[in-house]
Amino acid sequence: MSEKEVKKAIKNFNNRSLTNEQEIMLLVNRIDKWELEFLDIAGKSESQTRQAINEWLNEGEFIYGDGMIQSNSMAGFGGYGITRSVVNARISLKDYKEAYSKRILNLSNRDLTQARLLRNSLAFSLRDKWQEVYAKYDQYIKQSTGSLGQIKRDFMKKAVYQDAVFFVDSIGRQWRPTAYSEMWARTRSREIEDDLSTDEMGEFGLDIVKINNVSTTTPICLQYEGKYFSLNGATPELPILDMLPPFHPNCRHRKFPVREFKSNQLTVNSNIDKRVSTLSKSWSKAEKENVNKQKLWNNKNRTK
Ligand SMILES: [Zn+2]
Repeated sequence: MSEKEVKKAIKNFNNRSLTNEQEIMLLVNRIDKWELEFLDIAGKSESQTRQAINEWLNEGEFIYGDGMIQSNSMAGFGGYGITRSVVNARISLKDYKEAYSKRILNLSNRDLTQARLLRNSLAFSLRDKWQEVYAKYDQYIKQSTGSLGQIKRDFMKKAVYQDAVFFVDSIGRQWRPTAYSEMWARTRSREIEDDLSTDEMGEFGLDIVKINNVSTTTPICLQYEGKYFSLNGATPELPILDMLPPFHPNCRHRKFPVREFKSNQLTVNSNIDKRVSTLSKSWSKAEKENVNKQKLWNNKNRTK
């Protein structure tokens, strides 16, 4: 790039009018693809930029919050249906909605709060790094070749999206915003499906559950996968399920209700226990530590 082009590029970048904290916070409220949209409005006037960002805020909050409520509602119907099918009870979307719509809204309050936390955390991380990002951009544009559009796009991806903008979770890990919001939505769906399945098990006096098999290699899940458990201690032959699925964020395990106790359930359990006991001898220190962390997460998030 020529010196003139460099100057023009820096001017364009600096003129995108996002100069104060509030505007930056508004900008990062859009979780998905925001960096490309940002580039799109970078050349517009301050008032246009402000308006566009305000629209993102309203839309982003609505889409994520509403999306979570809908996704929770579907997940809950899964838990309701799975349990009812075990006892051949009627499965009706209408009955489900009548019985559970309030409960779904209650459970979804946590997701609305989380959406707000996510947005604010991203905003703070960007605000703190903003000067650094400017400096990096100056460097970047001098070193790069190619079209200005491509340079800007690469820069936004590398310097802003990957280095500066992240979400810090409750145990201090940094996440890319899309990865975090996907993980959150997936994990919450499993939790809500599981909660409603537990409610329905209570309705029909069911106590035994089986953890599904997804051929896991995760140490914490191996100890549960494929096994039969007693949910409430009403089946003394079986161990009590001491953790509810999902066992950790992004976990694919579920508990499926089982109608009655059969002795072969004990054989299944003891075969799995033997296999896991052998496998666990080769687990690294880090893997064992991870199990403890995941147990803490589970205790905090999945209490009976
Ligand atoms: Zn799992």
